[in-house]
Amino acid sequence: DISEKKEMEEELKQLNTKLEQLSFLDALTGIANRRMLDVMLYKEWGRGMREKQPLSLIMIDIDYFKQYNDQHGHLQGDECLKSIAQQLSKVSKRAADLCARFGGEEFVLLLPNTDAEQALRLAELCRARVLELNIPHESSTVSDFATISAGVTTLLPVMGVPPSELIEAADLALYKAKNSGRNRVASR
Ligand code: GH3
Ligand code: MG
Ligand code: MG
Repeated sequence: DISEKKEMEEELKQLNTKLEQLSFLDALTGIANRRMLDVMLYKEWGRGMREKQPLSLIMIDIDYFKQYNDQHGHLQGDECLKSIAQQLSKVSKRAADLCARFGGEEFVLLLPNTDAEQALRLAELCRARVLELNIPHESSTVSDFATISAGVTTLLPVMGVPPSELIEAADLALYKAKNSGRNRVASR
């Protein structure tokens, strides 16, 4: 029966779309996952190259999160991750911006057509917004509340340079932010 077959095909199509969406989303926080970030980073690197526009990336890491888990338990740790993910995903407003969970307690903001000054401003906003959540974190030595450190990098995408350079540089900046005391932003 043809109409029945059509119906099944339509159902299968919808199921596939759903599956694709699910696999690009982080199961715990509901924001984009690492796989989505990899795809978009590659895409935006190419676009930045063609349009000669800078591409910025903010690497974010929760401060003393191991201690948070030790003190409050992993379930509350998960709740903390969810709140921070939601908060971070609200910071940038442009449609092309992406907020993704990079892994564990690390997040990334990918910002196309964004220069170093704008990116630094957004990173500082991220830091302030997370602090405003007022999530109690007694075992942190840097604040009474949960905080983040962030590393910012801006590059003009060019031929022959892999997009992973952006992540590497942001990671180095993040180390700088951690080493200079945490709950702060550093750039590179
Ligand atoms: P730093 O300030 O240097 O970043 O210290 P830290 O304790 O945050 O860093 P560390 O890398 O030592 O610990 C990260 C912790 O994040 C350890 C791990 O148990 C926790 N974590 C990673 N993923 C999850 C998760 O999905 N849920 C929970 N509850 N905890 C997680
Ligand atoms: Mg970490
Ligand atoms: Mg951490």
